[in-house]
Amino acid sequence: MKLGVSSKLMDTIIREDLEQIKGSIDPGPFQGKRALVSGGSGFLGSWICDVLSQIGSKIICVDNLSTGVVENVEHLKGTNGFEFEKADVCTYSRSPKVDMVFHLASRPAPEDYQKHPVETALANATGTDKMLDLARKNDARVFYSSSSEVYGDPEIFPTPESYEGKVDPLGPRSCYEEGKRFGEALCKAYHDQYGVDVRIGRLFNSYGPRLRPDGLYGRVVSRFIMQAQSGHDITVFGDGSQTRSFCYVADSVTGILRFLGNNRASAEALNIGNDEERKILYLAETVKKLVGSSSTIRFLPFPKGDHRRRLPDVQKSIKQIDWLPRTTLEDGLRRTILWLKK
Ligand code: UDP
Repeated sequence: MKLGVSSKLMDTIIREDLEQIKGSIDPGPFQGKRALVSGGSGFLGSWICDVLSQIGSKIICVDNLSTGVVENVEHLKGTNGFEFEKADVCTYSRSPKVDMVFHLASRPAPEDYQKHPVETALANATGTDKMLDLARKNDARVFYSSSSEVYGDPEIFPTPESYEGKVDPLGPRSCYEEGKRFGEALCKAYHDQYGVDVRIGRLFNSYGPRLRPDGLYGRVVSRFIMQAQSGHDITVFGDGSQTRSFCYVADSVTGILRFLGNNRASAEALNIGNDEERKILYLAETVKKLVGSSSTIRFLPFPKGDHRRRLPDVQKSIKQIDWLPRTTLEDGLRRTILWLKK
């Protein structure tokens, strides 16, 4: 496919998804407001910047570009009220006037964050402290991007927000799992002590356009698609019987914005995920089929600390923000495959 055609296709997919998100949220709470988005040039952060800027928010996008890529927000530079700041949340020292803070800055990919455990833990500890303090000074509302990993390797399925988790504080993933747990605890502490309005979203395996496929940064969906498209082996860890519940990015971002826009949800944690649970081997086979690839599925050792199952209980999100993912795995994969074909 020629570059010109594929970049148009990429734009079309993202544009259509942005329209769907905008049609599924109330823009009222965001219009004319100023938002700081940490991790704003990463996967989810850049989608949030796109939606907010299209519905009339002014944005300060803060990113140290450790895993975020500036191309994700390049098109927003120079647009009304968009500001990009290359900065680390842990040393963030400015005090801009803001109405909302979205704290998403953290390395999300297991192989990558295990190579940078100190930065990962601190982005969720010191970084969260900086963002909460900024919110406190501005009386701003906060969205904290937490994760299904706060449940560790859970024992209850579907997993409700009330489940306390099964986490090894010294396990291979602890910098992220415990980092997110501490981040949540700090959100609650700022709420209880200073009355900061915080919303904790526990995201379950979001995927879609802009999810990085490369090297240590690669998450399973984008990595499998790239492997299938290039004819390389598709690398399934273990026997592929471990499961995940994949949530298409347009659905995740809709959930995040409905949660932040909701007036009654302060100091709540909410699962933001899809309740379609799938085996990783099924994902590999489906990607291979949808791409029309002749790649071989290659089985590699199951990584230490990897999780066996992940499935959110979505009853609270239905009740609290009247939201459920709409995109099937097959449809979301087709869109991601088209987007990655560039
Ligand atoms: N996985 C895999 N092959 C890969 C990358 C990941 O089989 O090349 C598996 C991994 O073992 C995990 C699941 O896919 O069980 C999801 O991995 P990901 O890195 O996307 O994030 P996680 O959900 O583990 O945080």
